[in-house]
This record gives sequence, C-alpha cells and structure tokens, in this order.
Amino acid sequence: MTRIDGHTYLIGLMAYPIRHSMSPTMHNTAFEALDLNFAYLAFDVDTPDLPDAIKAIKTLDMRGSNISMPNKQAIIPYLDKLDISAQMNQAVNTVVNDNGILTGYTTDGIGFVNDLKKKGHDVAGKKMVVIGAGGAGTPIATQSALDGLSEIRIFNRQDDRFENAKKTVALINEQTDCQASLHDLADQDDLKESLAWADIFCDATGAGMKPLEDLSLVTDPTWLKPDLVVYDTVYAPRQTKLMKIAKDAGVQNVYNGLGMMIEQGAASFKLWTGQDMPIELVQAAIEAKDQQK
Ligand code: NAD
Repeated sequence: MTRIDGHTYLIGLMAYPIRHSMSPTMHNTAFEALDLNFAYLAFDVDTPDLPDAIKAIKTLDMRGSNISMPNKQAIIPYLDKLDISAQMNQAVNTVVNDNGILTGYTTDGIGFVNDLKKKGHDVAGKKMVVIGAGGAGTPIATQSALDGLSEIRIFNRQDDRFENAKKTVALINEQTDCQASLHDLADQDDLKESLAWADIFCDATGAGMKPLEDLSLVTDPTWLKPDLVVYDTVYAPRQTKLMKIAKDAGVQNVYNGLGMMIEQGAASFKLWTGQDMPIELVQAAIEAKDQQK
C-alpha cells in the first residue's frame, strides 16, 4: 500500500454487514495494477447511520461509494441525481461524487448484460425468462430491456416481490421497446412453455445458495433445451443445482453469477476512474482469496 499518499481518493462500500465482501479485493487490485491513486474501503453502515455516512462523502471529498443492503433504496432521498439505471430500479449500488454533486447508479444489470456479451450472447433481439424480482432480478430485467431485449417474462412466487415485479413490468413497457409480462411461478405449465420459448433463462433467486443449496426451481431436465443460455446469479457455490441439471441435460451455455459480480464492479470502477478494470487480474485475485478460505 505504498502508493497511498496525501492525494489518494477514497471510495467506500457502505452496507451492513459487509466485512465479507470481495469488492475491496477487486477494486484495490485494479487500482494497484493501473497505478491509480484511489483506495477502496468497506464500512459497516446500517440505515440509521446512512445520512451521516452520505454527508461524509461530500465532506471528505470521497470519489464515491458502493452501496449494498440494507441501504440500496434508503439512500435515494440523500442523492442529488439518479441515473436512468437507478430510476428504473428505484435502487442504487454506486454513488459518484462530482464536485459535491452525488449521482446514484445501479450497475448490477450492466454487469449481467456485459458478462453475457463477453461470453458471446448479446441480449439485443432476444427473448428471456427471469425468475426473481428482487435486488438482482429487477436490474437484470430493466437493463436487458434498455439494451434491446425484445421480450421478457418475469416469474415470481406470490410474495412481496410480486408487487415489485408489477411495477418493473409497467416501467419496462412504458420506457423501452421490450415487451414485458409477469407470471406466477406456481403455474408450472406456463414456466415449461416459457422455457421452450426463451433464448435466455436467468434464475435471480437465492435457490442454489445457502441455505437453499439443494434447491433448483427447475427440476425436469427436459424443460431445458440444449441451445438455451442458462444463467444463475448465484456464485457461491460456483456450480448450483440448476447448473448441474442444465449441464446434465446437454445445455451448452451454463453460467454462474461470478462474471456478473465482477462486471458490475467494473462498471462502477469505470464511473469513478474512467478506466477499464483489468478483469482477468481481478478474477485471479478473487480466486486467490477463495483458496485462502
Ligand atoms: P432478494 O431477496 O432481493 O430477491 C429474491 C427473489 O427471489 C425474490 O423475487 C423472491 O421472490 C425470490 N425467491 C427467493 N427464494 C425463493 C424460492 N425458494 N422460490 C422461489 N422464489 C424465491 O435477493 P437478491 O438480492 O435479488 O438476490 C437473489 C440472488 O442473486 C441471490 O442468490 C444473490 O446471491 C444473487 N445476486 C448475485 C449478484 C451477482 O452479481 N452475481 C448480485 C446480486 C445478487
């Protein structure tokens, strides 16, 4: 850390709990590799302390911050501007401080779209099924729609996120050329037919991750055609139950959410520094951290 001096710009991560996050490793590896005079630190900030923490971004002339749960919605009233990505999700994961003006962005959806693009799948003109309408499913749906997806069917169970999904569907239909519709996950015939119809299937629920590591929301491998792109937003474990079922069914393109996680970080990095994150180096640093666990 010898590069830190009196001119170093601080970037934060404000959430609670957050000390387990991989983001400090990602960003500090990239700053060092590109010889950028920034430092990235995680701060345990729960919602009651958020107003003071946001004020500190201006007072300390920080370059910005990542924001995670439970602050992604709560931060909105304290910001000066919202980018379209944050407006459409009513959530913020990145704040940029431009001379005292704080702008909020959501980069998770950009992370998903960019990861898919790098893997050879452009969402433009495609049809997609997404299960889940929370912090991951919503930006995946809205950003894919902004980037030219032709149709999206959002499936959710009848919980509080179902109402959220109604708003997302309305926003996509009003503000983009993508046709969006909402479907009840309990209607399994509809899900089966929709998976046969889709080019891309994204599971954006916690299924496959602890404590639901033995759960896949699709159990019949015949519902997954070989040319379907199957994307699970879970990245721990690296292979989920859904991914295993898809691979056993002969699906060629099956991915976990690690690439999305790195690409959302890269999108924030670009907003703060104007530079491209060295993705391969960052991935290697994350894998080295994994080995230490
Ligand atoms: P969330 O709590 O905001 O939303 C969860 C969604 O999944 C809701 O729509 C809920 O209805 C649905 N759901 C949850 N359990 C379900 C079940 N058993 N059956 C059917 N539906 C169920 O959570 P989130 O922030 O959207 O996170 C969802 C997943 O995405 C998590 O696994 C998280 O780790 C992952 N994620 C990945 C990235 C990434 O960069 N790869 C980023 C954010 C979240």
